[in-house]
Amino acid sequence: MATEVLMPKMGLTMTEGTIEEWKFKEGDTVKKGDILFSVATDKLTNDVECDTDGVLLKILLPEGETGPCKSVIAYIGEAGEAVPGAAPAAAAPAAAPAAAPAAAAAPAAAPAGKKTVIVIGGGPGGYVAAIRAAQLGAEVTVVEKQHLGGTCLNVGCIPTKCLLHSAELVEDIKNQGKEIGVEVEGVKVNFPQVIAHKNAISKQLTSGVAGLLKLNKVKKVDGEAAFVGEKRIRVTKPDGSAEEMTADAIIVATGSVNAVPPIPGIRENPNCIDSTGALSLEKLPESMVVIGGGVIGLELACAYAAFGTRITVVEAMDHMLPMLDGDLTAVGVAHMKKMGIAFALECPVQAVETSPVGAKVVCTTKSGDTVTFEAEKVLVAIGRKANTASLDLEAGGIRNDRGRILVNDRMQTNVPGVYAIGDCVFGKAQLAHTASAMGEVAAENIMGHDSTYDESTNPTCVYMEPEAASVGLTEEQCKAKGLDYKVGKFPMSANGKALIINGGEGLVKIISDAKYGEVLGMHIIGPRATDLISEGALAIRLEATVDELISTIHSHPTVTETIREAALNAMGRAIHTKN
Ligand code: FAD
Repeated sequence: MATEVLMPKMGLTMTEGTIEEWKFKEGDTVKKGDILFSVATDKLTNDVECDTDGVLLKILLPEGETGPCKSVIAYIGEAGEAVPGAAPAAAAPAAAPAAAPAAAAAPAAAPAGKKTVIVIGGGPGGYVAAIRAAQLGAEVTVVEKQHLGGTCLNVGCIPTKCLLHSAELVEDIKNQGKEIGVEVEGVKVNFPQVIAHKNAISKQLTSGVAGLLKLNKVKKVDGEAAFVGEKRIRVTKPDGSAEEMTADAIIVATGSVNAVPPIPGIRENPNCIDSTGALSLEKLPESMVVIGGGVIGLELACAYAAFGTRITVVEAMDHMLPMLDGDLTAVGVAHMKKMGIAFALECPVQAVETSPVGAKVVCTTKSGDTVTFEAEKVLVAIGRKANTASLDLEAGGIRNDRGRILVNDRMQTNVPGVYAIGDCVFGKAQLAHTASAMGEVAAENIMGHDSTYDESTNPTCVYMEPEAASVGLTEEQCKAKGLDYKVGKFPMSANGKALIINGGEGLVKIISDAKYGEVLGMHIIGPRATDLISEGALAIRLEATVDELISTIHSHPTVTETIREAALNAMGRAIHTKN
């Protein structure tokens, strides 16, 4: 008698599941423990193991279809064995196929009065825009050519932070362990496991995005979109077929890709890698030259330095991290030097040559001398460019500056009904939270609300060691604008919690208007800086003053106390440091 394969119930609230993929086809031999299929719920995608040996006789619930928990979705038995003719229990009508066949993938005719929205790109800009538009009543389709979650979840924010978390643990044990009474013999980095952990976290989060889209009844179409006219796209599917689509509104959220500078020798040398390559190395390199002292280069430099790679950062400018307040950069660079990272400033790269070690980076110094740096890998981290090359913006009539789409603060392009958000737009920060914020703005405007994107509360975070974060104006910008401002500072070394966490390295700096005390900028380097910065963003959003930061009680012992103390210092009232 053939064994029934049931739709699993993987949680208290799960009532149905959608088959994402059958890993075997009818007639294949399967073994107990094989991954038989993957199933998507409104929260996650999970692989389901086979619990018997045999032949997959019949699949009753095809890929993309939804069935209730505990319903029979397949039979396994002996070759040639007959299977009961039972049809699968009816799928819940509301849950449309997630990966429908080509003909069904077009945006379904929207119920009368429903706006249709196509979002091109399923990164943190696109998927958030899609969900917001769906919340507001739109019939939404996301077209994604690769992976949901975009750069952020697959090869950006989350993967780098996974590596940095492993790195921080190693650093803490090595540098602080003895002092705080935690002695670990033979700490060693299992690099393939670092990468495996990173992959597992990414997978969990991207399947979460798939679940969220499904929960919000957003359709996903796999394929690459390109404009073929105003508000008209063609989607080329993985099987090579193509389909034209249109909607009441289109949101372009195609993100960015690593830029490759026109430096001779880079493209040809397999040891020159970009951030994506640096996040999927199979073996820990002994040495690495990082071209570019920006956020991505330095975060990866910190991670690899902690794992034991010898790092040299080569930068054309005379300073690193130009977007940060100078006081923060000084602390960060001092720490990186302590980690053993070497810096070569004002040292533009002229060429990359082959070398028995891996690659040789040839630079010119300020004084005109030629210097070279050899390493097993060269990480090219000079920035990212809009990912619009294959979109045919011209066919869509969309105005752009070298591929970066021009938008107003409602995220509208020059073409009525076409919006653009995230890394592919011109002149804004290329950050995940920026893309998401823009996505919500675009969706709300499409759905008849009046939303604008406000850059003034957009924090910049650098997850180096120690973390740094910044929102609003830097002191350098206040000077350049000729503003009358006050500075309040507080060192992490005078804060109990910071002292416990990292020995008190870092500081908080608040810049406020000299007359009214309005917070203009907040800059933090030290433990939890990237979490703490939200207080600064909120202060700027609410036009709060340093008095209001002071009159808000901050819990003890926490690193947040440093923010109140910096505000006190601005008023000449610091309790725990000299004014
Ligand atoms: P993306 O995330 O790039 O998503 C665009 C999506 O569109 C992709 O999935 C792509 O496949 C799809 N697509 C492109 N073209 C087409 C097409 N023609 N048809 C269909 N689909 C298409 N930001 C932070 O805020 N914090 C961080 O810590 C951080 N760390 C980073 C670390 C690294 C190494 C990198 C590279 C980036 C990091 N970023 C960070 C930046 C962040 O990842 C991006 O700002 C963010 O992902 C941009 O979101 P997006 O939705 O605009 O684009």
